[in-house]
Amino acid sequence: MRSAVFHGREDIQVDEIAEPAVERDDVLIDVTAAGICGSDLHEYAAGPIFIPGDDPHPVTGETAPISMGHEFGGEVVEVGEAVEDITVGDIVTVNPILYCGECRYCEDGAYHLCKSGGFTGLSGGGGGFSEQITVSSEQAIPVPDDVPAEYAALVEPFSVGLHAVRNAGFSAGDSVAVYGTGPIGLTVIQAAKAAGANPVYAVEPQDARRELAAEVGADETLDPIDTDAPGTIIDRSDGGVDATFEVAGIDQTVRDAIRSAKHDGSVTIVSIFEESIEIEPNDIVLGERTVSGTLAYEGGPKSDVEFGAVIDMFADGTLDPEPLITSRIDLEEIVDGFETLLGGEHDEIKILVEP
Ligand SMILES: [Zn+2]
Ligand SMILES: [Zn+2]
Repeated sequence: MRSAVFHGREDIQVDEIAEPAVERDDVLIDVTAAGICGSDLHEYAAGPIFIPGDDPHPVTGETAPISMGHEFGGEVVEVGEAVEDITVGDIVTVNPILYCGECRYCEDGAYHLCKSGGFTGLSGGGGGFSEQITVSSEQAIPVPDDVPAEYAALVEPFSVGLHAVRNAGFSAGDSVAVYGTGPIGLTVIQAAKAAGANPVYAVEPQDARRELAAEVGADETLDPIDTDAPGTIIDRSDGGVDATFEVAGIDQTVRDAIRSAKHDGSVTIVSIFEESIEIEPNDIVLGERTVSGTLAYEGGPKSDVEFGAVIDMFADGTLDPEPLITSRIDLEEIVDGFETLLGGEHDEIKILVEP
């Protein structure tokens, strides 16, 4: 079968690889769609980062070359003999979190914080940019018939936004600012609105992304190039909003996200950074602001908690993945998709690869 395989930096090839074997607890999935994620781009441009280069990944035992793609879903075409709750024909999404099951975090049920954790599609175990993949049945979460099958690929990024909002600790009616409205920023806006945030400010330099932010629920969008965005937010909210989210991954947005939270407000950093940054610690201390980071979403035996909540909200329309899908491409076009997303001028948000 065909699979997009990471061989090294700027070297992803669509290879013919062996059909995956189905063990007792596994499900075999015919992939419908898989999304290209920012972390895939980091691997391609600057990797291997999460992808195991020289040392085998502690959970999978694999090193590159490995198949990529960790945001995906599809139709179950075979199940292992021990699988009870999933049947052939089910549409599933996949929670890609891999974990050791033995460290203090796994013992506490925080599988996504596992000391030696990883992700299917980055750490080995096959990837979604493939015709087929097997995963543990624990990772496969059924998606109901009334949710389009390709939306299964968007459950993962929406779970990142949901997890960030659940950890931010604001209440319905509280004001929120989101810095950066790429794919994850847009899921944070939707999850914040679903949680009752009002108003939600979105700060984003790209015109097309600001328009999308408004389309998915931001009450006011601000261009940080033309305006003093944090100053405007501070003025409109009597000194700062209740919660801010940093989803751009640069120093300026971190400083602005801290500064535009009210005293005793929360600042949630969702980005992964390519470089160290400078912040002003007094902005945290003097206002007793709380700055925290969130990573991914719950996994392991809790794979279906946040993923399940997102699926339910796709089904009832509370969350809408459609505006995020800007292109659909064949597996053979995947490198072009990566190059487009890494190029400067484009209006893409989520490119779905349909193997
Ligand atoms: Zn991702
Ligand atoms: Zn662990």
